[in-house]
Amino acid sequence: MKLLIKDGFVISKSYFGNYDIEIINNKIVSVKKKIFPKKHKVIDAKNKIVIPGIIDAHVHFGLKGYGSKTLENFILGSKTALCNGITTVIDYVIPEKKENMIQALKRKLQEARKSFVDYTFHSQIVDFNKETPKQLKYIINSGIKSFKIFLPKTESWYIDNNKLYRILEELQKYKDVILEAHCEDSDIIEPIIKKLESKKKLDIKYFPLSRPSTAEHSAVKRFILYAKKFNTAIYIVHTSSKDAMKEIILWKKKKNKKFKLYAETCPQYLTFTDNVFKKNNNYLYTCCPAIKSFKDRKFLWESINNNFIDVIATDNCVFSKRDKFKNRNNFTKIPMGLPGTSILLRSVLSEGIKRKIYVKKLVELLTSNPAKIFGLYPKKGDFVKFQSDADVLIIKKTKEYFFRNCDAHTISDYSPYENMKYEYNIEKIIFKGKLVFDNNKLLLKNPKGIFLKR
Ligand SMILES: [Zn+2]
Repeated sequence: MKLLIKDGFVISKSYFGNYDIEIINNKIVSVKKKIFPKKHKVIDAKNKIVIPGIIDAHVHFGLKGYGSKTLENFILGSKTALCNGITTVIDYVIPEKKENMIQALKRKLQEARKSFVDYTFHSQIVDFNKETPKQLKYIINSGIKSFKIFLPKTESWYIDNNKLYRILEELQKYKDVILEAHCEDSDIIEPIIKKLESKKKLDIKYFPLSRPSTAEHSAVKRFILYAKKFNTAIYIVHTSSKDAMKEIILWKKKKNKKFKLYAETCPQYLTFTDNVFKKNNNYLYTCCPAIKSFKDRKFLWESINNNFIDVIATDNCVFSKRDKFKNRNNFTKIPMGLPGTSILLRSVLSEGIKRKIYVKKLVELLTSNPAKIFGLYPKKGDFVKFQSDADVLIIKKTKEYFFRNCDAHTISDYSPYENMKYEYNIEKIIFKGKLVFDNNKLLLKNPKGIFLKR
C-alpha cells in the first residue's frame, strides 16, 4: 500500500514548510519538496496543515472513582480520541481495592485489547510496602517506564513524604524511568473544606476556594525538593497555577541539576477561568486541580511561549452529566474530571495561534515532546523516514465555528467546551498508513490499536 500526501504544509519537530509525504504500508518513508506519484494513492493536502498524529499523554478510560465510573471504557474512549486526531494515548493503571500493581496492569491490558488507537500506560503507585520493589521491576520489564503518584489524599491514593522518598529511591535504580505527580497538598485543602462545611458552603461556587493555588504550589515545591536528592526524572501533571509554574521555572532555570523536570498543562486551564463557577452549570467544570484565575491562565500561556511547559495533554475523564448533576450541591462528593480528547487539537491550535504562539511549538507540545519524554520517539510524534509510524492528520483552517459536543464522536453527554469558537478542524486522519477518518466519518470498522512497549 503506497500513499502520497501532496502539497500540504507540514509541521512537525523535523519539518516546517511545504512538503510531500510518502507512506509505504504503515511507515513514513520519505518527506521531500516534490515526490512524483508512481502507483501511489494520492491525497491532496493543498492549503492544508499536515501534522503527526497527536499523543495524548494523560487520559483516563474506564476509571472508577468518586463513587462513580467514567462513561468511556477503553474502546469508546479510544474511538473518540481517534476521531479527534489522537492516534496514541497514555492511560493510567490505577490499582483498585485488593489489586496490586501487576494485577491492575493485567486488567488494564485486557480492557485495552480493542483500542482504536495505539496505547501505553503510566502505572500509578498507591502504596510503598515490601512487595512494591518487585512490582515496580515487573512493570518496567513489561515495557512501562512512567509512574504516577498522588500527593493529595484523593481516594485511597495518598503518598506521604516517607513513601515519596522510598519511591524515588527505588526508581533511581532504573534508567529512563520517570515519576509523575498530582501536586496538591491536603494539609492546605482539608482545613478549608472543614471551615466551608461548618458554614454549609459546599455548593460548587465555593469549590475553587477549597483548592487554592497555594495547595498546588506547596506540593510542587515538596515534590521537587525530594526529587533533588535523586536522579529520577519527574513530571508535574496538569499544572494549573501561576505560583506552581513559577516554582517549576525556578528549577528549570537551575544549571547542573541531577534530575530532569517536565511540566504538563491541560486545555481546561488554558481555556477557562474561575468565572465558570459563577455559572448555573458550574458543576460541569469540576476537576482537580480546580480551574484558576485569569492571571493564572495568562501565565500558563506565557510559560508555553517561553518553553517552560513541555506537554499539553487532556486529563480526559468523562463522568456523566447526571453523576455530576446529582452532586451539584456538594463539591466534596462530585466526580472530578472533564472530557478533553474531543477538543484537544482544535482548542490548542485555535487558542494558541490566536495568542500568537508559534504554531510549530504548539504541534510539538502535542506530538514530539510527549513522544520523547515517554520513550515513544521517533516511532510516534514526528515524520522521521523509515522510523515514524504513518499517523498523519490533515487539518484545515476554517471560518470560525461553534464546537458542538454532538458532532465530536463521543459518548460524553456534555462538554464544557460546548459553543466555544474554533478555527481549525480535522479533515482526514491516516492511522498506520490507512485513511481511517474522512469528512467527519470514521472509516475504520475494526480497532487496530496496539500496546507500545517502551
Ligand atoms: Zn488525571
